[in-house]
Amino acid sequence: MSEPSIFTRILTGDIPGEILLETERVFALRDINPQAPMHLLVIPKTEQYRDVTELAVGDPGLLAEMVAAAKRLADEHANGEYRLIFNNGAGAGQSVFHVHAHVLGDIEENKLVGF
Ligand code: AMP
Repeated sequence: MSEPSIFTRILTGDIPGEILLETERVFALRDINPQAPMHLLVIPKTEQYRDVTELAVGDPGLLAEMVAAAKRLADEHANGEYRLIFNNGAGAGQSVFHVHAHVLGDIEENKLVGF
């Protein structure tokens, strides 16, 4: 059996992290290296899916739950508008292979590119 991901370790309390939302199937953390005033991660509790391509095929309902959680977070922690990013593959910047959505908000003008 492989080691739990860093996100699962935060969820289980093995390592510290700021959990902002938790439902039956998803949770959200504050990103440790923020790229915008609000930079959160929405993560399914299951580690079954490595990236959003696999998730969309395997459980589109869970993907929809992640989007709903992102909107809720943007309403609670920013102005309700948000940018949703999934990195897919190491060459595209993915470093944790437990699917997660980056939720960015309160983005400063002219800072939309580069991440
Ligand atoms: P990605 O590069 O798309 O796989 O995104 C992984 C994200 O996880 C990066 O934005 C990291 O800053 C973030 N990250 C890594 N370790 C932690 C941690 N311990 N707590 C919160 N965020 C983390």
